[in-house]
Order: sequence, then C-alpha cells, then structure tokens
Amino acid sequence: MKLTADVGIIAAGPAGLCAAVSASEAGASVVVFEKANNVGGTANMGMGPFGVESRIQKAAFSNLTKEAVFRKFMDYVHWHTDARLVREYFWKSGDTIDWLEDMGVKFIGATKYFPDSDATWHIVQPEDGSLPGPRAATTMNKVLYKKALELGAKFYLETPAYKILKENGKVCGILARNASGEEIELRCKAVIVATGGFGSNPEMIKEFTGYDFGKNMFNTAVPGLVGDGIKMVWDIGGAHGRMTIEATGGRTPVGDGDMEAVHLGFVFSQANLTVNKQGFRICDESVMQNTSVAANIIDEQTDKRIYNILDDSIIKKFRRNGMPFTSSVFGGSDVDNFDERFTKLTELYPDCFFAADSLEELAEKAGINADNLVETVEEYNDACDMNYDDVFGKSRKYLLPYNGKRFYAAIGTIGGYGTLGGIKVNWKQEVVDSGNNPIPGLWGAGSDINEIYDGTYMFYLPGNTMGFAVNTGRIAGERAAEYALDQD
Ligand SMILES: Cc1cc2nc3c(=O)[nH]c(=O)nc-3n(C[C@H](O)[C@H](O)[C@H](O)COP(=O)(O)OP(=O)(O)OC[C@H]3O[C@@H](n4cnc5c(N)ncnc54)[C@H](O)[C@@H]3O)c2cc1C
Repeated sequence: MKLTADVGIIAAGPAGLCAAVSASEAGASVVVFEKANNVGGTANMGMGPFGVESRIQKAAFSNLTKEAVFRKFMDYVHWHTDARLVREYFWKSGDTIDWLEDMGVKFIGATKYFPDSDATWHIVQPEDGSLPGPRAATTMNKVLYKKALELGAKFYLETPAYKILKENGKVCGILARNASGEEIELRCKAVIVATGGFGSNPEMIKEFTGYDFGKNMFNTAVPGLVGDGIKMVWDIGGAHGRMTIEATGGRTPVGDGDMEAVHLGFVFSQANLTVNKQGFRICDESVMQNTSVAANIIDEQTDKRIYNILDDSIIKKFRRNGMPFTSSVFGGSDVDNFDERFTKLTELYPDCFFAADSLEELAEKAGINADNLVETVEEYNDACDMNYDDVFGKSRKYLLPYNGKRFYAAIGTIGGYGTLGGIKVNWKQEVVDSGNNPIPGLWGAGSDINEIYDGTYMFYLPGNTMGFAVNTGRIAGERAAEYALDQD
C-alpha cells in the first residue's frame, strides 16, 4: 500500500496524538502509524499532565509562575540539561492545558502528588464521571484521538513502523507493516517519532541503564515499548541521547494489578522506620513521599532494597488518628483488619511481605541483620521519647514508637514509569546527528527524547513526563507542519 501525507507520525501515545492534532490544526495532512490496537500508549495508565499558568490554576488563585517553576526545575537538575528545551515546554504547558480543555478534556483541578510538591498535576476527570484514579488520562487520549480524526488525520492501528526513509539527506517517509503483514509505504515531507522508549526491552535496559529488569528494577513494562523509534532514528544517523529509567521507588514489586498489595504497601510508606539489609536507618523517611528520591535511596543500597517496618501499635494509632499521608493514586488505603489482610499478603508474596511476633523473628524472615535492627528500634524509640530525631532530624509528627507485639516488614524496590531518552534532539526538537546537525524533516517527541531530568525524575513538579509528552508532541506537530507546508 502506498500513502502520501505532509506529516507522518510514528505512534499514537499522548505525544503522537498531540502532534496529530496540532499538525492537522496547522493545515497539514497527517498519517499516524500505531503499533497497538488502541491509542494513548502508557498514558492510559496515568492520571494527568503537568501545566503551569493554566486557566484552572489561575481560577484557583495559584501563585505558581512559569518563571519560578522553571528556575526551580533547572536548579533541581543542576542546569545539566537543555534549558531552552525545558523553557519551550514550560512556557507552552499552561496553554496546552487550556487547549486540551477547549477540545473537551475535563480536569478535576491542578493538584500536588505529595505535600512538598507543587500543584502542577492536572488530573483528568474520567468520562464516566467516576472518581479519578490510575488510568484517568485514558479519557484525555480518547478526546485527542477524536479531535485528530475530526481534523482529518488518518490512523493505522496495529501497524508498527519499522523504517524511516531518507533520501538526499532529507527524511521523506516511513515504512510500516499492518496486522495482515502488508507493507505500507508512506511518502511524507516530515516525520515525528514518539514511540515511548524501551521500558519493556530488558536487553536495552541492561545495555543502556545497567539495571536487570525484574531483578533489581521493576519498571512498568507496557507491551510494545521496545525502543523501535530510537533504533529507527539511530539507523539513519541520529545521535544517541542520554538514556535512563524513569525511576520511582519504595513499593513492593508485585505490580499495580494487585490493589490490595498496593494499598497495604502504601501504609508502609507513611514515614515510619525504614532500614537497609544491615538493619540501619538510611534517611529521613518522610522524604520518600517523593518516589523518585526513594528510588535514589534504594539505588544506594547494595541489594537495591529497603525494608519498611511497622508494628501493631502504630497500626492502632493509624486506625484511631488516620495516616499522615494521603494519595490521589492510592486513595483506597486503610488499616481495617490489617493483621488478617497483611498475613494473606505474606502468603501470596513471601519474598516481599513479612510478619512476626518479635523483631528478631521479623529480621530473620526478611533477611535483615537482627542485632542491628533491635538496636535501631531502641534508638528510634529513644528519639520518639525525646521528640527529637538526632539521626536525620525527621519531623516530630512522624515519630511514633515501636511498642507493639506484632511486627511487619515490606520490602521496597526500584520501580518506574518506563524509560527516558534515546533520541538526541536540539531545543527545537529537531533530531540531530552526532555532529549536532539537524536531520532535515525529522522531529522527536515524548519519552523517546526526554532527557531533561539529569537522572532523577522531577516529582516536585508532578505530571512532568506526560506534560513533556503532550507539550513536545504539540510543538513537534506545529513545527513539522510548518516545515512540510514550506516544502511545497
Ligand atoms: C502507571 C503509570 C502511571 C503514570 N502516570 C502519569 C501521570 O499521571 N502523569 C505523568 O506525567 N506521567 C505519568 N506516567 C508517564 C506517562 O504516561 C508517560 O510519560 C507518557 O505516556 C509518555 O508519552 P509518549 O507518547 O512519549 O509515549 P507512550 O505513552 O509510551 O506511547 C508510545 C506509543 O508508541 C507506540 N509504539 C511503539 N513502537 C511503535 C512502532 N514501531 N510503531 C508505531 N507505534 C509504536 C506504543 O504502542 C505506544 O502507543 C505514568 C506512567 C505509568 C506507567
């Protein structure tokens, strides 16, 4: 099959969908190839994108400004990233939230992820009117898809692209293959690549990040994200970008499918005692509300694990007073019938959850040094008595002593939302070669090009990767359309 268009887009995750809408709005004809049988990619698992100075924030009298948020971000990443690319994204982001709203996406508001973060996370209201939770952003993807179709973009689902065509130094098309094995050749003037990274490719993860997928790192492996776009770009001379895991950490590696494990796991992240295998405390536990910080703390440990400890006296206090942290993602967490429910988890996941009638027994089951754990708990209880944590200066409000009779441990490992980076772009999102020269006609968007975090995902400004995807997708669509229409 032979097709022609102004702009060809590889993939229909949020980056590809936004590119399809903006390129079509700019007057370009658009063809999109998507590997899966549906659109939305990883964002179908998420809740919403980052934005600053959106109408929603202004209506809520938010005092966040793009300049202040930009500065905060750049200081956080040590200016060790392309400031101009970040600037383009942040300056666009408020308007992109308004643009999505005008298209029909409803947001419940702009919220924080954890207390120390800023309210930049624009959470999508699901179309069925249910309370937003994981997967809420599916509704945003559906609205984008409908809009792109209305504007005339053509989508080919279950049709993975496998080659970018280049002639006389310029990109000029895409080869893809549909579900019946038929080859499709698209001839186009500009190509946008947005295939979401290599989060379900253990070999690439090992080679480019050093982690052993499923052993010391458990990122969410969305099927099909195997680095196709990155490899296609490298094949035609695109330079390698910085590649990292979008690491988060602190929870047990049982997957998001078991919500009981997720909810009880959240009880363990309430800033009580966390130790390493040696039985020593390793941080002010409250900082691990920022799960990318938690990932770094876990990464520092020799076995890439932490052990979160609780006892029944603390559970009793939680039952009476509530838990200090709440979460819009893990909102269903409670401690009703904790011992009974937790015991079931220890049977289901004996390598992740442990319960015992003494600290020594708990240590033995979990593989923690027992003498040190007992000493650590004594020291911690002294800190609670003194109302002062002399080790890490943790806030008094989290200092609850361990004086119960039943003890619990849950391991925390490195997880993540997938991978970041691989395709090198300049601040205009033009894909560049190893000499930093743009490859004419080729743009990148979304996680394939996202290397803006200097290794640690910036969770203080939540919504940041979906925000990067929707904004860089939108920008790539605008620029690729302008370029393609200029070629006529
Ligand atoms: C559980 C979970 C929750 C999350 N929640 C949030 C959140 O609330 N806020 C936030 O900011 N971020 C969140 N994220 C991250 C966010 O979803 C991603 O950053 C975002 O989806 C990246 O968008 P993308 O378009 O670059 O790639 P993706 O969404 O990963 O889409 C890539 C697309 O490429 C397609 N594809 C791959 N290869 C090919 C090929 N050869 N040809 C054609 N198509 C191909 C795939 O099928 C897929 O549809 C979450 C991630 C996870 C796992």
